[in-house]
Amino acid sequence: MANLPLYDAHAHLADPRLAPILPQLFAECVVRGVRRILANAARRDEWDAVASLSARHDIVYAALGMHPFFLADWDDHSADELRQAIAAPPPGAKIIAVGEIGLDFLSHRDSTAKQLAALAQQLLIARDFDLPVCLHNRKAWPEFFALLKDLRITTLRGYCHHFGASRDIARQALDHGLHLSFCGPVADPNSRRARAAALYAPLDRILSETDCPDLPAPQYHGQLSQPWQVHAVVQAIADIKKATPEVVAATIAQNWQELFTQP
Ligand SMILES: [Zn+2]
Repeated sequence: MANLPLYDAHAHLADPRLAPILPQLFAECVVRGVRRILANAARRDEWDAVASLSARHDIVYAALGMHPFFLADWDDHSADELRQAIAAPPPGAKIIAVGEIGLDFLSHRDSTAKQLAALAQQLLIARDFDLPVCLHNRKAWPEFFALLKDLRITTLRGYCHHFGASRDIARQALDHGLHLSFCGPVADPNSRRARAAALYAPLDRILSETDCPDLPAPQYHGQLSQPWQVHAVVQAIADIKKATPEVVAATIAQNWQELFTQP
């Protein structure tokens, strides 16, 4: 697997848990054939970190946004600040998406109205800058599609991270133009929904990710996950689709090129 071109569409490289191992992590990624990592910001205070990582490392690209778990940071100025951060990045930074954004009504139901408002603003920012979005939606798919309708967004460029919803939701997401992205758990035979979605989605609408440092593939349980471990996701998708890892890796590479605007 070492020579497969690997693409991690969703990584939290600014997570403090990774800070002590970042130099080794990047060295290992190069050895293992990682071509691209999309570093997602979850909080306001990660925007600078992911932008400057993308300026310092050829393989790192950045997504700026605010995750539904961290909307305590989201106030009347946040949308303008996000526009400013995207419009005037640090020298050499490669900001190619808005993320991680979305709705999570499983564990954060109390902030429903704020989540909807923050997501609406961030979707409009993505539209205005013509950037794809990195979506985190959990137990909120009907509300998500209703919000798109309210905003008159019929097609949306981007991906649904850690996809594990039903086939009907997969169909609706694909119909809206979204890609489905899978991480470590898809390699676990018990992840029935994620595996069913990976089987259902056309290969040319699939991305691979790690969500590092979380959600390791089964063979890395007990460790912080790292972007190079995305090989396990490629292998799992190959097994599910009865394709070769080479074909899956090459198609994911092509999907990445088509989805993200490359400088
Ligand atoms: Zn994430």
